[in-house]
Amino acid sequence: MMQDYDDYCNFDIIVVGGGHAGVEAALAGARIGLKTLLITINLDTIALMPCNPSIGGPGKGHIVREIDALGGQMARTIDQSYIHIRTLNTSKGPAVRALRAQADKYSYQKIMKHVLENQDYLFIRQGMVKKLIYEDSSQLVNSKYALSLGVSSLKLPNLSVRGVEIETGERFFARSVIITTGTFLNGTIHIGDTSYAAGRLGEFAATGLTDSLIEAGCNVRRLKTGTVARVDSRSLDFDQCVLQEPSPEPLNFSYFTEKQFALKQVPCWITYTNSSTHDVIRKNFHRSPLFGGKIKGVGPRYCPSIEDKVKRFSDRDRHPVFIEPEGNATTEIYLQGMSTSLPMDVQISMLRTIPGLQNVNIMRPGYAVEYDCVDTLQIYPTMMSKLVMGLFFAGQINGTSGYEEAAAQGLMAGINAAAYIKDNEALVLGRDQGYIGVLIDDLVTKGTEEPYRIFTARVEYRLTCRFDNADDRLAALGNKCGLLSDDDFEMIKESRSRRDRAVQALKAFHVKQNPVNPALEDCIGRSYEEVLRRPEFNIHMIQDSLFSLQDLHLTEDDLSRVEIETKYQGYIQKQHNQIQDMQKMEKITIPQNLDYTMITGLSVECAQKLQRIKPITIGQASRISGVSPADMTVLIYHLRNKMESC
Ligand SMILES: Cc1cc2nc3c(=O)[nH]c(=O)nc-3n(C[C@H](O)[C@H](O)[C@H](O)COP(=O)(O)OP(=O)(O)OC[C@H]3O[C@@H](n4cnc5c(N)ncnc54)[C@H](O)[C@@H]3O)c2cc1C
Repeated sequence: MMQDYDDYCNFDIIVVGGGHAGVEAALAGARIGLKTLLITINLDTIALMPCNPSIGGPGKGHIVREIDALGGQMARTIDQSYIHIRTLNTSKGPAVRALRAQADKYSYQKIMKHVLENQDYLFIRQGMVKKLIYEDSSQLVNSKYALSLGVSSLKLPNLSVRGVEIETGERFFARSVIITTGTFLNGTIHIGDTSYAAGRLGEFAATGLTDSLIEAGCNVRRLKTGTVARVDSRSLDFDQCVLQEPSPEPLNFSYFTEKQFALKQVPCWITYTNSSTHDVIRKNFHRSPLFGGKIKGVGPRYCPSIEDKVKRFSDRDRHPVFIEPEGNATTEIYLQGMSTSLPMDVQISMLRTIPGLQNVNIMRPGYAVEYDCVDTLQIYPTMMSKLVMGLFFAGQINGTSGYEEAAAQGLMAGINAAAYIKDNEALVLGRDQGYIGVLIDDLVTKGTEEPYRIFTARVEYRLTCRFDNADDRLAALGNKCGLLSDDDFEMIKESRSRRDRAVQALKAFHVKQNPVNPALEDCIGRSYEEVLRRPEFNIHMIQDSLFSLQDLHLTEDDLSRVEIETKYQGYIQKQHNQIQDMQKMEKITIPQNLDYTMITGLSVECAQKLQRIKPITIGQASRISGVSPADMTVLIYHLRNKMESC
């Protein structure tokens, strides 16, 4: 009996929290073949979308593609559960084009839970983790994992994580624990004057665990986020709103799912606030917990509440309200743009000033939630804590906001927890490899004082890190770390090879007399590559004239990617050159025991920052805010002298 219980309680990896980060982390650990336990407060809220039931958009959509290329789950699940999908930024360049889908949020959850329940090596348990179990472990690690962080003698912390204790007193043990607790740690909800403990509306707050983190030396801070009221579609007059049709064609986030509508597609609508709405809000500023000082946590700058928008942009006479269904089997509607924590009477009054919403009925109130999160300057780019070996953090607990950002971190934490246990090389993505690399580098290099979300503008190499080419950038890595199956990787390689042959054909063949497409008459003698680079031509215009292109059986996606690669080749090459320069800086590592306060010539502010963050490479040091080019010269000079004197 004892042996049975031992087996029940012992794992390689424990994931705390079944949100978007937790789901990816748990699947990654188990798919790599490690015995993984997912513990979450309520099994019925696995992968719940507590805010907008939508996935993707510029930046976020890029992340979903990258998760897919690495072998993660999010893209596959949204492809089976969307009820409205569109490509955004079609009139702009390929760097910022991306898909955005509206999910049937209940289908999304159901599918995710089904995937988890059918995953080998993955065990699921309902429970609230109250405590972490630590043990002393003073060791100088020279392992493959540590070396792959670019540090030859990484003095890892004296403390290791050993497991967790849940509210029943049961203890579960593992060599690695991944914390993905979202908005739940000491969560407090605010609606007008009312405040109470909750992780989200209708869900318990998680208490106890924060104390365990503080005990290990983690800096814990308060952040805040908010959401909109959910309203009853039967109380809306859609005729007064602008219709937004979904794409007539099925579109896919995943490289590996079939292009088909899995669910019935529905429209969305747009309406606008007006001066009456703003008057109601202004008259009630004093009742807002945000302005009254009740909410102390910093909120998301890029997702402000409607009261914040009315205050900050007082010159605007209207703000858009996107009317988005939450699913096919519910009348609940999400009102994007109307996030609020004003009292209920104000929520009703302000909504009823909006065209189409004059008779609106609220089914769930809008609210704000404050929660504890950790300081990401205290974690390595592998997502592991610098204070406790084997302890990883991912998702909203790291100060980010958004399902996609959470899922990406969960995936990377899962991959790296597995690498840590197996003593394999860690996987750290560079800023040149994609949006996930940028997200994590920003977090561990700059930290964040407010909920962080990804944007295309945060990414330096946008033309090489496009939505369409995540597979070229990351699939080999996903396959190497054991997540992306060989069959899936084979598919990706075949697509690359078809496109390479297409590019060769474009270069090799020239437009001959009497081309099939008469529009090419002016281009006789020119290579098809040259022709395609001209703005007035697209790949479909030359496809009929270039027979060797037809032999390749290119898909629509292949064709569009060949066109992008050809048209933007000059810019793409320029970015590749910049990436090479940057990579040289990334290869120069900094000893972790370097005392920056002893380096003469460094500004005091810079020395303190470097001492706190302990960057792993010169590249990382150069990106820390407050570190000037002059400081970098001093640091490089110091390291060079040190190396010469060794
Ligand atoms: C009110 C609200 C408004 C939001 N607004 C926005 C927005 O405007 N824009 C945006 O991009 N994102 C928004 N989000 C954020 C988005 O929901 C999160 O970023 C995303 O869900 C984070 O994923 P996660 O996996 O980190 O955490 P979550 O999805 O929150 O999942 C956390 C999971 O951990 C479990 N858990 C917590 N503590 C414990 C414990 N001690 N033991 C066991 N299990 C535990 C919970 O039950 C839950 O399943 C909002 C979220 C909320 C709640």
